[in-house]
Amino acid sequence: MTDGIKSHYEVVVVGAGVSGIYQIKRLADLGIDALVLDAAPDLGGTWYWNRYPGARFDSESYTYGYSFSKELLNEWHWKERFSPQPENLRYLNYVTDKFDLRKYMRFNRKVAAAVFDEASNQWRLRLDDGFELTCRFVILAVGLLAVPTLPRLEGMDDFKGRSFHTFYWPHEPVDLAGKKVGIIGTGATAIQVIGEIADKVGELTVFQRRPNWSAPLNNSPISDAEMADIRARYDEIFAACTRSPGGFEHEPDRRGFYEVTREERIALWDKLYDEPGFGIWLSIFTDEAANAEFSAYIADRIRKRVKDPVTAEKLIPKDHGFGVQRVPLETNYFEAYNRDNVHLVDLGETPLECVTEKGLRTTARDYDLDIIVYSTGFDAITGSFDAIDITGVGGVKLADEWRDGPSTFLGMMAHGFPNLLMPTGPQSGSASTNFPRGIENGVGWCMGLLEHIRRYGYTRAEPTAEAQARWTAHVTKMYAIMLMRKAKSWFTGYNSNVPGHEYGKTRYLVYNGGTPKYVAAITGVAEKGYEGVVFDADARVAARSATAAE
Ligand SMILES: Cc1cc2nc3c(=O)[nH]c(=O)nc-3n(C[C@H](O)[C@H](O)[C@H](O)COP(=O)(O)OP(=O)(O)OC[C@H]3O[C@@H](n4cnc5c(N)ncnc54)[C@H](O)[C@@H]3O)c2cc1C
Repeated sequence: MTDGIKSHYEVVVVGAGVSGIYQIKRLADLGIDALVLDAAPDLGGTWYWNRYPGARFDSESYTYGYSFSKELLNEWHWKERFSPQPENLRYLNYVTDKFDLRKYMRFNRKVAAAVFDEASNQWRLRLDDGFELTCRFVILAVGLLAVPTLPRLEGMDDFKGRSFHTFYWPHEPVDLAGKKVGIIGTGATAIQVIGEIADKVGELTVFQRRPNWSAPLNNSPISDAEMADIRARYDEIFAACTRSPGGFEHEPDRRGFYEVTREERIALWDKLYDEPGFGIWLSIFTDEAANAEFSAYIADRIRKRVKDPVTAEKLIPKDHGFGVQRVPLETNYFEAYNRDNVHLVDLGETPLECVTEKGLRTTARDYDLDIIVYSTGFDAITGSFDAIDITGVGGVKLADEWRDGPSTFLGMMAHGFPNLLMPTGPQSGSASTNFPRGIENGVGWCMGLLEHIRRYGYTRAEPTAEAQARWTAHVTKMYAIMLMRKAKSWFTGYNSNVPGHEYGKTRYLVYNGGTPKYVAAITGVAEKGYEGVVFDADARVAARSATAAE
């Protein structure tokens, strides 16, 4: 089956999520011969796959949406401050149809391998059904949270009830009424699921290995009048996102922690705790004492919300401070534990032994369950890159190069892998921020590079090993000052379910300098004629004569 796919394109984009959709829009605007391939049955990426109850933004909806089209901004009405998955998927479909982008997309098409052919300066892609095609440039918009991981537990196939990872939550409604549900994990996803289903199931048993910090989402509907106000302020809102380190409209209080009294600090924190969104996710990421005081404040808030003191203590993280990794935002999460039908199992005390035919077994006892929900996260940041067998110059494999951690140029290119672009790759400015703001920056930079390449007739572009080493050293150095470096988190590459990602082997995966610094860095490179990128020699001569003729 070719579903109209040609054997060659100028550009192939892999992934039809937020990144891939914007990427193809920009390619189509320039009339570049391009194709988008996605393994999923339809577009949307994150918002196509994750259909679990409670799945929604924790970025303000109107700061998450694309900023590139005034018309789109004026047409779309976000109905909730933190929009749920079905609405987000509708939005991405709306954008795709509005700009007539679907014609470039092919679904159920998984890219299994990519080999760079040095003779022709082209990539040869092999899909998992054996189909092959070539392209000059390949753009990997494959997602940073797109490869779910399951726990390494014995007996998972023996369970006679239903079980699924939250990423694969069934598309048809799951009847939860009266059911005994067990959920493994208490990360960002589980926190959303638990708050949502606690009052809809018979019994809910939460199997927690380590607690996560979390703060209230404080979601609310957006009325017509509020939406009109947001539309009128879009320029201002996006300008604030551009200024703020996290790409959000919330800007940190610039007063230093020690410049204000404790009373003033508490008053500010009280206000932020009751406000919607990430405002509470302050910038106390580098000072250990300040972070400890703030964490103690949040811990007290948890103690006030959870009635049973023993349960409350179990829900308070002791191994890392608040905000040193991305903070999940919750609705009714802590109150769920006040319900008689919700039980917390501390896997630190009684670890899981195996999955049985009837449910889960810890070292203490068996739990009979109808449904097991694996909320066990992702092979984050590098997982979807590692999953493609990518071979660059001299037969070198990208997965081998990145075995102990990725090394990139600006998070968007890799030495030894010419003509391969990653608008939101590892070490780029996306993962530690409001993603779409980072995505628009990354896609914009990649497009600038492609235009430069087209202007001069180049056929090959690759970062130098030195430029890549400098960027990686810069990213690495920034971890040294962050408390986050100690966290058992996907920001440091920790995932006990992925071999080689054990604690203690820090992987420098995200750029921690914040949006303004990242944008300055990538813009600076572009302004210097893509300093650090080598273009093919023949074309270089042509470029010199073109410049001389201008
Ligand atoms: C549950 C959840 C909630 C989130 N909430 C927020 C939020 O509120 N704010 C925020 O900023 N970010 C959030 N994120 C992060 C989110 O991933 C990004 O906001 C954004 O959706 C990423 O878009 P993307 O296009 O880069 O990647 P994705 O949406 O992950 O899309 C990647 C696509 O690539 C496809 N693909 C991967 N490998 C291949 C292959 N080999 N062949 C073919 N296709 C392939 C996948 O099928 C997928 O469709 C959330 C993530 C999750 C998982």
